[in-house]
Amino acid sequence: MLDAWLDLVHGGGCVGCAAPGRSLCHDCAERLPTGGRPVRPTPCPPGLAACFAAGEYADLLRAMVLAHKEHGVFALAGPLGRVLAAATAAVVPATPTLLVPVPSRASVVRARGHDPMLRIARAAGHTLSRSPGRDGRPVRVARLLEVRGPVRDQAGLDARQRAANLSGSMAVRAGTRRSLARARVPVSIVVCDDVLTTGATAREAQRALEDTGVPVRAIVTVAATRRRLPVSTAPSQPGLPLFGRGD
Ligand SMILES: [Zn+2]
Repeated sequence: MLDAWLDLVHGGGCVGCAAPGRSLCHDCAERLPTGGRPVRPTPCPPGLAACFAAGEYADLLRAMVLAHKEHGVFALAGPLGRVLAAATAAVVPATPTLLVPVPSRASVVRARGHDPMLRIARAAGHTLSRSPGRDGRPVRVARLLEVRGPVRDQAGLDARQRAANLSGSMAVRAGTRRSLARARVPVSIVVCDDVLTTGATAREAQRALEDTGVPVRAIVTVAATRRRLPVSTAPSQPGLPLFGRGD
């Protein structure tokens, strides 16, 4: 359904409301989240760093992510980057920061014709670098990670299968490791992704960085899926930050 909808509108209309003209109309842009909040997948991969997302993966944000990623609506990279920047600003207010996009397989990038997460991260870095209060403290995008080895499509896999599928699949690129080692200024390393679902991808990115001595400050995503808690466990985790209806 959504794909058909996007096919209809991505040629010349707003992905949020199909209004003719820009790929994101003014009214829909006004509805975008302007901050981030802590989120946690359930179940959560052991040791996962603090996660922040700008909003729930639904409705407008979902339409934007998919139109940008699958349909190459590059005009949405700017707005998606601003959403990611808003979530990131809540985590690292004014420290020198490296945004590390979760890598895609080279074959996927070739098939899509672009690297959506890299594009969004660059837009976020651009926004953050110019945000008031940073006083010139830089935000850079660093492609520290690459995908190694075969990884099956994650669709249809549960949380444990995803974790097993991804284990050992990412590595720090050799050249960037050397440049990180040379860096004298302490930086906050923030792993960026478009959507937080089970946390398996983010955890694998974190593992690859930490295994080479690179501490991860946080994981920040544009959106997080809403995970339904079993009724029996819901009351025992009252503080669990999830995106719910009406948020
Ligand atoms: Zn609209």
